[in-house]
Amino acid sequence: MGQENSSRQTDPDTSTRTLSSRSVEAIAEYIKDGRPKNIVVMTGAGISTSAGIPDFRSKDTGLYANLARLDLPYPEAVFDISYFRGKPEPFYVLAKELYPGKFFPTVAHSFVSLLDEKFMLMKLFTQNIDCLERRAGVPDDKIIEAHGSFATQRCIECKTEFPGDKMLEAVESGEVPHCFVPQCNGLVKPDIVFFGEGLPDSFFQHKHLPSMADLIIVMGTSLSVAPFSVLPQLAAEDTPRLLINKECVGDFGSRPDDVVLLDDCDSGIRKLADALGWRDELESMWSEVNGKAERDEKETLECARKEAMTKDEILEEVISELTADVEAALKLSNDHIERTMKQLEEEKNRSAVKDRIKSQPQSTSKTEFEAVPSTEIASAPLNIEWTVDEIPAKPLAMDSEAIIETTSPQNLPTGVTSASTPKENDVPYTI
Ligand SMILES: [Zn+2]
Repeated sequence: MGQENSSRQTDPDTSTRTLSSRSVEAIAEYIKDGRPKNIVVMTGAGISTSAGIPDFRSKDTGLYANLARLDLPYPEAVFDISYFRGKPEPFYVLAKELYPGKFFPTVAHSFVSLLDEKFMLMKLFTQNIDCLERRAGVPDDKIIEAHGSFATQRCIECKTEFPGDKMLEAVESGEVPHCFVPQCNGLVKPDIVFFGEGLPDSFFQHKHLPSMADLIIVMGTSLSVAPFSVLPQLAAEDTPRLLINKECVGDFGSRPDDVVLLDDCDSGIRKLADALGWRDELESMWSEVNGKAERDEKETLECARKEAMTKDEILEEVISELTADVEAALKLSNDHIERTMKQLEEEKNRSAVKDRIKSQPQSTSKTEFEAVPSTEIASAPLNIEWTVDEIPAKPLAMDSEAIIETTSPQNLPTGVTSASTPKENDVPYTI
């Protein structure tokens, strides 16, 4: 697993320094031994593709391929600060598509959050601007958004921060927001790093952290944009480094404790979680986050929908809901009547079969019994017992008068005299 598929492998003869072997299992063993307390994770667009967010650098299937309709001189122009100054509209068309809230974290995002819960996460460096790490539960102070994010926004001229709710309104309506400061009226832009802009201060303040890490995990990045791409190289020579990516990137494969897992992020992280015995915990954490995200999303959409409705529309909806309730109740009632009628019909059939059984003479033969239609027998009450020769075990009904007439007076039950028999005067005793 892991290293064996790498196109650029560490020389097999090179002994590992820290890990027992160059494999995912060895990384898991290293983590379970409790040695790493300062794990630094680095992520790129690949961690968010399974969330449905287009890969910024995939020219065929990614975001760039969808930019043609924005009539840009070149695709990257949408993230170019000089182009934005003159024509901000294309960015806002795109922002509506990418704005956080429409996407949910992946299982790989949840793994980073799980590392933090286990007090192992030192810092997460991400190139993504989708805020899905925050949504997955990674604390803000553990995240360095190297290329900024949609979390905050400000005027590109006077740098005054712009309120989040106003930004959301602008993105939803597709209108370009402008600075509130009188006499400024500059363009407002999310704090994502455009071409031609420097990285945030927080990146430079924390970029030394990989050198202090005891494990580096890199996921879903081409490691092609400096200075982010340099971060994994800052780790100490004997610090294990794990790459989960579809291809080998950066200088991975050049060190004795490099483990390369050529896979997509979610599948690779599940392999690591399996090796760690954390799989159930990870999946339940991910489902919980996604369930909550979906519920929040539905609530927000429902609130927005209700706010946009007029009084008449609300009244109409209430009436329509009530009508639906009444119709449902009527249907229930009709179903009940139908069921009852059916039961009565069945009961009637059963009684008919019972009567026919009772009316058979005592010497009922098997042949005569078979004369009862099989469908009627099948619908006869289940509690009828059958003897081996198929004559009912229950004694056939007898005329009580016949019993009295053939019983000697001395055999009558106590208190019953021949005088009390109904027909004593009509039929003489035979004795
Ligand atoms: Zn301003």
